[in-house]
Amino acid sequence: MPGTWSRGAGYRTSRVLVLGGTAEARALAAALDADPGFAVVSSLAGRVRDPVLPVGEVRVGGFGGVDGLADWLAENKIDAVVDATHPFAAQISANAVTATQRRKIPLITLQRNAFEPRPGDRWIRVTSLAAAADALTDERVFLTIGRQGVSAFAGNPQWFLIRAIDPPDPPLPARHELLLRRGPFDLPTERALLAEHGIDVVVSKNSGGALTVAKLDAAREAGLPVVMIERPPADGPTVSTVAEALARLRDPS
Ligand code: NAP
Repeated sequence: MPGTWSRGAGYRTSRVLVLGGTAEARALAAALDADPGFAVVSSLAGRVRDPVLPVGEVRVGGFGGVDGLADWLAENKIDAVVDATHPFAAQISANAVTATQRRKIPLITLQRNAFEPRPGDRWIRVTSLAAAADALTDERVFLTIGRQGVSAFAGNPQWFLIRAIDPPDPPLPARHELLLRRGPFDLPTERALLAEHGIDVVVSKNSGGALTVAKLDAAREAGLPVVMIERPPADGPTVSTVAEALARLRDPS
């Protein structure tokens, strides 16, 4: 549904809201911004102190639940929504489903493919943060789940290397070291990190994507187990690439 001509009103671009906070959302915003048929507004939750901003118009902060989002869509004359949020951001995704149904506008869910185990991987697959905390028996843990959810490990007795962009909210595990870093991370970096800190086990969300996969390659190389937290199921149909999302927006039929 790129822009449309109508008698009287002239040319009207399609206004797309991209729910963001991911590299895919930024890539999509850049592609839409460069397309004269679309006007794009990206939305960020405002969790990261110094976020990498998408190209084009950006708004920051929650909408105020489903009702707030539905009102915002109407007030801003949004024609379509792309939910390109992180696979673990389940609340905003559910809100997007309800609000777009209420406004009778299309919703496209853009979600990168999950990580898949490869030969040599020693994954312990779990479906929640609590189950990941329970699954830990080894002493030195590399906790690489971002800043959200770290408190689920607060009661664990192990030592944790916690890597995140911004400091996680307390409570944190009693014994830990915080490593504030922004990805992407390459294999030599991850290999060195595991060796330097004497890591026994890696904990990861199954976020998918190429930018953070090197930690899994490094764990496989070192023969280390990975506690893999599987993602919550996505609501409704999804596309996995920016190109597919663009194609859907251009031809929703
Ligand atoms: P969530 O639990 O699904 O959402 C909680 C609330 O935060 C939502 O109800 C909404 O508030 C607000 N919100 C979330 N994403 C928003 C967005 N893009 N624009 C405006 N408001 C948003 O989300 P989360 O897991 O806290 O993640 C927050 C953001 O961080 C997401 O945008 C996501 O893409 C990004 N992120 C999350 C993770 C993760 O592991 N969860 C990892 C990397 C990046 P209202 O109800 O007030 O509208």
